[in-house]
Amino acid sequence: MTADDKFYARFWGVRGSIPCPGPDTVRYGGNTSCVEIGCGGSTIILDAGTGIRELGDAMMKNGPVDTDILFTHTHFDHIVGLPFFAPLYSRDNTVRLWSGHLMPEHNLEEVLCEMLMAPLFPIPMDIMAADKSFNDFRCGETLTLKCGATVRTGPLNHPNRATGYRVEYDGRAICYVTDTEHVEGQLDQNILDLIDGADIFIYDATYTDEEYPNFKGWGHSTWQAGSALADAANVGTFVVFHHEPTHDDAFMDAVAKQAAAKRSGTVVAREGMALVP
Ligand SMILES: [Zn+2]
Ligand SMILES: [Zn+2]
Repeated sequence: MTADDKFYARFWGVRGSIPCPGPDTVRYGGNTSCVEIGCGGSTIILDAGTGIRELGDAMMKNGPVDTDILFTHTHFDHIVGLPFFAPLYSRDNTVRLWSGHLMPEHNLEEVLCEMLMAPLFPIPMDIMAADKSFNDFRCGETLTLKCGATVRTGPLNHPNRATGYRVEYDGRAICYVTDTEHVEGQLDQNILDLIDGADIFIYDATYTDEEYPNFKGWGHSTWQAGSALADAANVGTFVVFHHEPTHDDAFMDAVAKQAAAKRSGTVVAREGMALVP
């Protein structure tokens, strides 16, 4: 990474479901979903899994924080790191939070405040001194963020709903598509529309095709289904993401090999990895 890389994706948490630290996951990492998108010197954050803690600490070293957090949805593995995101605790910082899956039954502020309510957590949201805004949008809308990025959104196939994102900046596009389940033998047209011609496509590849029959209806997909979407939409780099917690480093090495053999340039996400489109 250099100062010239105005637009990039960096991975702080690559797991689904629950963190899985330990000697067998050190290389790919054990934190749950959190991806940083660097955008002309600003930062956009995709999901607030446990990986967001270290990202927040890194951001605090560079002076006042002004950022957007886009939630795919509010299952625990995508929000549980939020109370450990240090920038929320200083009045010098501005944090805009976005979600597209909750209306009309719920809204983002209510759902996140519920997670922080006693006796589940000791610090309520109003103690967090940053200038916060909670923005509920309708999935399918296009967002324009303060940093200048255009963010297109689309619906995913997941229990309680989820939103896929396409972040466009400086003529390039990074897509973040998790959590979602494919229909066997079909390509999801909503996803194809969202990722069409993108430079980087990050996808819910929790399972392999061999494992998938045991987890039908759980709301997750396979690297093989992601690879087929990447081909059909003519994307640049396909990124395997949202790893199953029981998949250790050796397992992920095997996935990396097979996925790259099927589609050249495919990479498996690991903590600390950065990609420039
Ligand atoms: Zn998840
Ligand atoms: Zn989920």
